Amino acid sequence: MILRIIGVWAYSDGEELPWPAQHVDTQWDRVERRLVHDYLEESYVIGVGALDPDPCRICGEPLERGWSYSDGRFVWNSDLPHYVAAHGVRLPSEFVGHICGVVSAARDSEWWKAVAGVGGGQAKLAPPASAALHEIGQWADAEHPDWPQLGQQGRGWDDVDKECVVEFLRTCVGIGDSGAPPAPCQLCGESLEGSRIRSDGVFCWRDDLAHYVERHDVQLPAAVVGRINNIIDADIDWTWWKTAYTAG
Ligand SMILES: [Zn+2]
Ligand SMILES: [Zn+2]
Repeated sequence: MILRIIGVWAYSDGEELPWPAQHVDTQWDRVERRLVHDYLEESYVIGVGALDPDPCRICGEPLERGWSYSDGRFVWNSDLPHYVAAHGVRLPSEFVGHICGVVSAARDSEWWKAVAGVGGGQAKLAPPASAALHEIGQWADAEHPDWPQLGQQGRGWDDVDKECVVEFLRTCVGIGDSGAPPAPCQLCGESLEGSRIRSDGVFCWRDDLAHYVERHDVQLPAAVVGRINNIIDADIDWTWWKTAYTAG
């Protein structure tokens, strides 16, 4: 997998990399600007301790770049939200369109139902490419007998895998709130917050899914775990960003 880097600025105008002052847009729609800022700041932390602080190219404030974020398609450093919030630096339309697409995407649980028999060959079943996000992590109950039954999943996790997956499930970007009140865990009865919906751009899940993995070792389909590992191990594409403002 390859993640596109975004938001690495030139040190002076005229370099190969974009210069942020050229992209300040004071007319940028407030709602969209806020959405982009929050998305940048609340995504999954893919790397820590990457780079030293760097002065803002516009106001000179030293900005922390000590960690980097990813949404499964793009990757950026922790200084980028400042440019959006403080200066209205508009990011390339392809990136903004991608964010709007993920946040407003339809969700469907057909694939999750198809992997109901997790443990057999279906566990490796890749989800179809789709504009909709594949909803995962809902378990059969009286109202939804066709969702996967808890207890049919394997319980064996590699410890490192499990830690990465739990962290990923807890911190991927929130794309919505179902408004549902806390509900009891179907295995231990603990009251779980599950109203926040998170996504990695392909799958989406409620906040309570991490609990089932962390506390009860509930396995997830290989396609989900494989995607998480691919994001963590991804290579970085440095070329897209250089022409992102001029392309399209
Ligand atoms: Zn600044
Ligand atoms: Zn539980």
